[in-house]
Amino acid sequence: MGRVSKPQSCVAPPLGDMSAEDFRRLGHDLIDWIADYFENIEDRPVLAAIEPGDLKAQLPTTPPTRGEPMEKIVADIDRLIVPALTHWSHPSFFAYFATSTSAPGIFGELLTAAFDNKAMLWRTSPASTELEEVTLDWLRQMMGLDPGMIGIIYDTASVSSLHAIAAAREGVEQRIREEGMSGRPDLPLLRVYVSEQAHSSIEKAVITLGLGQRGLCKIPTDDKFRMDVRALAEAINADKRNGYLPFCIVATVGTTSTSSMDPVPEIVPISEEHAMWLHVDAAYAGSAAIVPEFRHILEGCERVDSIVTNPHKWLFTPFDLSVLYCRHMDLLKRAFSLVPEYLRTPEQEKVRSGSDYGVQLGRRFRALKLWMVMRYFGHEGLAARIREHCRLARLFASWVEQSSDWELMAPVPLALVCFRASPEREGDADALNEAIMHGVNASGRALVSHTRLNDKLTLRLSVGNIRTTEKHVREVWELLNEQLSQGRAQ
Ligand code: PLP
Repeated sequence: MGRVSKPQSCVAPPLGDMSAEDFRRLGHDLIDWIADYFENIEDRPVLAAIEPGDLKAQLPTTPPTRGEPMEKIVADIDRLIVPALTHWSHPSFFAYFATSTSAPGIFGELLTAAFDNKAMLWRTSPASTELEEVTLDWLRQMMGLDPGMIGIIYDTASVSSLHAIAAAREGVEQRIREEGMSGRPDLPLLRVYVSEQAHSSIEKAVITLGLGQRGLCKIPTDDKFRMDVRALAEAINADKRNGYLPFCIVATVGTTSTSSMDPVPEIVPISEEHAMWLHVDAAYAGSAAIVPEFRHILEGCERVDSIVTNPHKWLFTPFDLSVLYCRHMDLLKRAFSLVPEYLRTPEQEKVRSGSDYGVQLGRRFRALKLWMVMRYFGHEGLAARIREHCRLARLFASWVEQSSDWELMAPVPLALVCFRASPEREGDADALNEAIMHGVNASGRALVSHTRLNDKLTLRLSVGNIRTTEKHVREVWELLNEQLSQGRAQ
């Protein structure tokens, strides 16, 4: 951390916090350091080039008895912590869902930490509560969702979906909040329906809510990895004949493996026929709906009960920030609100208190960073960046399609490409593609990840980083081809 001031030594005073003078000096240095980090990030390997345990081996096993100078702590971040980072902000990070923070988002996080508000009640942070309502209504408008959808922020999509399913369960009127589920012969088996391509977070939510894995029904998908709607209808009807209680369908718009989209407009009538809650997991793809020409991906959502989208995935907002839009905030509140005497306030009937809508009491002031991101880039600026990512993904997909060495493994509706090298002998395909992926990742110059589609190991290239340009996409294509040549030569 070259720029951090050397001459003074900033140690903690006997009591109280760091002096304003030291805070200002080191704070300026740290912002300089972050600016340098972003400017030079391409010199670093994308994937941390360390072995398991390497960092731990370099850190003391006992806590410091006396405070240490901040300069020394910061120098250790440079020396020990940064080499142990996988650089998600590197423009050649194409793995999982590529995501990145942005300058206005970092400023938002900085201020959130400074304010340190615990927004459990309106009065413990009116700014957090009201800014969240306004910011999420802006985002709702940008995504083209109807005004009946009310937003609330959680940390992750896993938690947003868990809360949606809990609200759905509250809606079945089986007194589960009061009496629980165990030891109840009067309670039928409650079931949730997802496609086989749904994210594991839904299964985890079902487990957490005590519904058990038996309470989850996985529906097969079609040749484009979308939920088979006929199979869904049949499964629900069969479950009803067995005396089960189907109560929730989770459709995915933008699945994790391929970004496939379940046909929400066709699922809506089924959920309505059986009076089931329809939750849409658009954790990744929801952000794309702010681009006018992609808004259609949320078609049908005017009739769903809830939808999750993650600004921390593709809206340049630092992790973590997930938004649940819900049409039945009353049910969400009924599932979670519990107000002990020490949290009672005179204004509670007039205002929204975050703690009424979830498991946690205190809540971070997350809306601030999203509000700053939205104001700094504007709707057009955010849409332009997402549109460009989709263009880059399509460009990459076109190279795959034109090459006889590679094949596309799934449609490319947005900015994720699923592809693999076609081997001379099919039996070698998985090993070859795995070797290519490890070769690319070990080079430190790019990071890609994988999935398995139709039992074939498939590589994934996700474009979503704010710094990624065509140059980076061309470089990773060259790198993949280099690795393919090496793999074939062996
Ligand atoms: N849903 C989908 C479709 C995802 O792709 C992911 C993560 O990639 C999640 C849910 C879980 O997201 P989170 O890490 O915010 O819980």
